[in-house]
Amino acid sequence: MSKLSRRRFLYTAGATTAGTILLNACTNPPNPNQQQTTTTASPAVNVGGGEGPEVTTARLGYIPIFESTPIIIAKVKGFFDKYGMTDVQVVKQASWGALRDNVIIGSQGGGLDAAQFQMPMPYFLNEGLITADKSKLPMYVLLQTSTQGNGIAIAGKHSGKNMHLNLSQVKSYFTQLKGGGTPFTAAYTFPGANQELWIRYWLAAGGIDPDADVKLIAVPPPQTVANMKTGTMDGFSTGDPWPYRIVQENIGFMATLTAQIWPAHPEEYFAVRADWADQYPKATKAIMKALMEAQQWVDDPANRDEAIQILSGREYFNLAADILTPPMKGQYNLGDGQPAINDINMGPLFWKDPRGSVSYPYKSHDAWFLTENIRWGMLPLDTDVKGWIDKVNREDLWREAAKEMGIADADIPKETTRGVETFFDGITFDANDPTAYLKSLQIKKVSV
Ligand code: CA
Repeated sequence: MSKLSRRRFLYTAGATTAGTILLNACTNPPNPNQQQTTTTASPAVNVGGGEGPEVTTARLGYIPIFESTPIIIAKVKGFFDKYGMTDVQVVKQASWGALRDNVIIGSQGGGLDAAQFQMPMPYFLNEGLITADKSKLPMYVLLQTSTQGNGIAIAGKHSGKNMHLNLSQVKSYFTQLKGGGTPFTAAYTFPGANQELWIRYWLAAGGIDPDADVKLIAVPPPQTVANMKTGTMDGFSTGDPWPYRIVQENIGFMATLTAQIWPAHPEEYFAVRADWADQYPKATKAIMKALMEAQQWVDDPANRDEAIQILSGREYFNLAADILTPPMKGQYNLGDGQPAINDINMGPLFWKDPRGSVSYPYKSHDAWFLTENIRWGMLPLDTDVKGWIDKVNREDLWREAAKEMGIADADIPKETTRGVETFFDGITFDANDPTAYLKSLQIKKVSV
């Protein structure tokens, strides 16, 4: 990693963790903002995989957005208990920076063993790019928690400018904003991860250079909404239920859903500290089985209303159920004169999507997230993408867990790649040839 991009990580990562622990993470007490949920123990049953897990406890972190649904459902519906993990704690995190810090601390220090992650955060930890002392924290990516369910929100003052999915006719407006000394300013919540990458992709596809034509900044999640309301922020990339709330609460409109940018795109993941998984391999697979069963359960439209009731609970999202219902069912009013969307396949999906498995962690998707970091100069061109993925992505464990719990062969992908991916602007990504992808892009920082 270049000096410049390393500084950028340090600087922006700091910005995301205001008010939470950042430096000396190993000696500080756990984040006081985190809330803990206690377990109602029920009898453990062994389901698949021979003897029970080595331990019955684990501390799992989540951020209260739809991507955390399988973690919360597995807890509340008793799936962790079913697979012998009777003392799992699911712990709400105040920000991505706090989540990262708590995984670095580990449960022995009051932190976390595993957590929900944006990509490629587990890789950044694995390579020591986002730890305070640059030490490497080996991580395993175990499964994808959900696809889609994210979008790009725009402040209401930009209504009527056609700032929608395709920006190719709107470039002059961005130029005008910049020329007037108020460049379009957009926020993301963790550098180099999903939300920054969605904004960058969307802008660049419309001919707008995210490094030259606009201002991108890292902002803690609660501030993004506050800044949109006061008009000091023009846009941000966010997960459900925020895309729905932005329009509903008259904060602004949705330029696009990520499902429109890249249908069935990879979104967030569940990853574990490698030292924990290596010490407790059966417990690791037990957690995976519980999450996979939760994913199947919540993917069933018949269970969505119950899932909404659970998520809306005070100890989880702490939001009225009627805020969660439309996006959980793929109902979006994008605002700014755009047609409404009412299609469950455009909302968050948890087990299967039109392209195959949601839960299975395709190596080809990890390759896109790393390649996109190379595109924007956040990782060097000579990054050993395949080598990194082979260390961190544990699709082999997913296959084992799936077989042990009796998942149908048809639901277990045959390949570690999902094949060629196609974006809304016609650009294609083939994990077997990321250089061809980089060459095909007009706007990028890397020279290929
Ligand atoms: Ca997300």
